[in-house]
Amino acid sequence: MTAPEDRARSAFAAEFGAAPDTVWTAPGRVNLIGEHTDYNGGYVLPFALPQRTAVAAGRLDRREWTVWSEVGRAAPVTFAEADLEPGRVTGWAGYLAAVVWALRDTGVDVPGARLTVASDVPVGSGLSSSAALECATLGALLDLAGSELPLDDWPALAQRAENVYVGMPCGIMDQAASSLCRADHALFLDCRSLETEQVPFTIADEGLAVLVVDTRAPHRHTDGEYAARRQTCEAAAARLGVDLLREVADLGQALAALAGDEVAVRRVRHVVTENQRVLDTMTLLRAGRTSEIGPLLTASHASLRDDYEVTVPELDVAVDAALAAGALGARMTGGGFGGCVIALVRTESADAVATAVSSAFAEHGFDVPAAFVAAPGPGAARA
Ligand code: ADP
Ligand code: MG
Repeated sequence: MTAPEDRARSAFAAEFGAAPDTVWTAPGRVNLIGEHTDYNGGYVLPFALPQRTAVAAGRLDRREWTVWSEVGRAAPVTFAEADLEPGRVTGWAGYLAAVVWALRDTGVDVPGARLTVASDVPVGSGLSSSAALECATLGALLDLAGSELPLDDWPALAQRAENVYVGMPCGIMDQAASSLCRADHALFLDCRSLETEQVPFTIADEGLAVLVVDTRAPHRHTDGEYAARRQTCEAAAARLGVDLLREVADLGQALAALAGDEVAVRRVRHVVTENQRVLDTMTLLRAGRTSEIGPLLTASHASLRDDYEVTVPELDVAVDAALAAGALGARMTGGGFGGCVIALVRTESADAVATAVSSAFAEHGFDVPAAFVAAPGPGAARA
């Protein structure tokens, strides 16, 4: 298959009979570890997938935006200035309207434009196709506006677009990963200070691979449950007298203070221990001891399953099957309730692990999963 940037260019020519002025691509991501920590001001450690979303864009001389995506291959959607109010454009085109809105809200004079979207990032699988779309759109629109925005400012702008315009209360991880990641590195992000560290993650050199398994489990209750987790965390933080759960210094004391509220106890225990697992993973990665991070990944999954309660049977079966087939560690990645699992494997056992997961899925009567090996790629870039 041709690269998404080529498909976006061809689609632009086919739809609009012209060449685009600019093309940007941005990647999906997996999160190595640090789940449901971002909105608690904690730590995350994503890396960018090789799969990317491309947006080709051409200037229009009127304040109107016409967008087309190969997903669904539906007719183009057009919105005007009056539609640039949060929530006005719904569905997939809303993600592009959101970026136009967020840019204009910060004072960037975004001209009218035509945009075509092509993507290799699985949509709605927890691999962050939404942030890839937002970040590729952001780059393309900045070019059309003749503006520059330091890359470090992209995550907050794209997150605001999704939070306020689309109405999805996501944390900042996905947009940070899609804009800031580097090839052969994982991105350590402190979601409170937004400080980052690019940590070498040259797994192939060490005979290792990250196998991504898309369980294809239908997302169940994603939005409501996600918002509920956030609310529980915020309420618990308030009861503990901290702004963010990240600031909980003594877990034992915090759990004692929440005694009687079993749900809050479990959620807080996940967040606090997960932050520590990210720090422990970083310690190993900085020391070049990548092959030793497996147990931390597996412990993260157990915590997400038992304490945070965001897994579904498909995720648990995939993790268990991967571990039984020799994975060094495995966990769900992304928000949960469906989506993907990652497994750290020895390169030579990647196929066997993928096959073992497929067999387990067949035994359980689940849909056939999709698996691929993901090498850490670069963040958003002009194509
Ligand atoms: P994820 O980000 O994990 O893939 P989300 O539910 O956050 O899942 O975002 C998926 C939504 O983003 C899709 O339903 C669609 O509206 C939009 N989207 C993402 N990629 C594309 C694309 N290439 N074309 C059109 N819409 C897209
Ligand atoms: Mg998303």
